[in-house]
Amino acid sequence: MESRNPSPLCSICLTRPADKTNSHIIPSFFISMVSSVDNSYKRGKELLFTINERSTSTYIGREVLPEQLADSFDELTEERLNQMRKSDVAKDYIFCTHCEKKLGEFLESPYHAHILEGRHIPIDVAYYYWISIIWRTAKFDSQSLDMPKALVNSLGKRLTNYIRKKEGGEDLSFLMSKLPFTYKVLYDKDYSKRGSGIIHLEYFLRNKIALFILGDVIFCASFSKHGFSRTSVPYGLDSLFASAPENDGHSEERVMVVSEDDIIDSIKQPFIDIIVKRRLADDKEKIIHIWQSISKKDPRIPKTKYPCDEFIEYVLSELYSEDIKDGNRTTKEHFTNCIVKGLDKIYGMSVESD
Ligand SMILES: [Zn+2]
Repeated sequence: MESRNPSPLCSICLTRPADKTNSHIIPSFFISMVSSVDNSYKRGKELLFTINERSTSTYIGREVLPEQLADSFDELTEERLNQMRKSDVAKDYIFCTHCEKKLGEFLESPYHAHILEGRHIPIDVAYYYWISIIWRTAKFDSQSLDMPKALVNSLGKRLTNYIRKKEGGEDLSFLMSKLPFTYKVLYDKDYSKRGSGIIHLEYFLRNKIALFILGDVIFCASFSKHGFSRTSVPYGLDSLFASAPENDGHSEERVMVVSEDDIIDSIKQPFIDIIVKRRLADDKEKIIHIWQSISKKDPRIPKTKYPCDEFIEYVLSELYSEDIKDGNRTTKEHFTNCIVKGLDKIYGMSVESD
């Protein structure tokens, strides 16, 4: 007998087929916020570098003009450009068209108008907006949050209920207090225009804390039944968050507006440090690996297992040289060039790169 995969059902309503393509896991306005080439915060204008320890991927929005890429790339083949136009921040076949529309209508559009334009937002909308984001990122993001499955499922169930009741115009009040979840929001208007906005999401299992850096917006949630009072925000950020109002879905969302960029800088710095450290360790490993493979072939290269520290340091400094445009930094060609330069500079050997 022939076996067939049933077509997946929408993860929100759990009844209709998941027919929607290009669903954003993180609302697209946050992506545009951190990556619009012209600082317009508009969709289609993204130039996004997604960085993790192992690799950097790039996404270029449909409306980015070739001249707007000149600062980041030397030259681009049509092939590489097309490949970078495919978004890895969106997913296909997880929602149905209907539910995706409801997410936008009930949650995303009102929250967007609330945070960026200061418009009034009903209590339940802000509360479920954040639940929907935590749930989506924990369930579908490729660098998914390390969050207990039971918690993720319970958030999903709450969202399903919420959308259903909202559509039916039913009473929502009993949906607001079933699970310990309180949160704080910090907002630094136009931070990503002045500095470099990043998106970073992390869940701290032991503290039951989620910390999301979303460009101009910092979101921190506690899933402890005591809220923030008996748990601590990692990376020594307690005192910073202490003055932010705690939202619990029983009164209107309050946002702490910050105006000094140092505040967001200090929140994102520990994450950047960790990634840089992991990236450096990874690059170092790659350099050693290449050294070992070429030393087998080239008799001029010392038959030692490891190159000298000066060589490694020199190659690393070339890899991250400020003269290199961001888009070229992670290419294989650039890596090879740096190794070749290092062999010449430190060992006085000229090697053809191939
Ligand atoms: Zn659906």
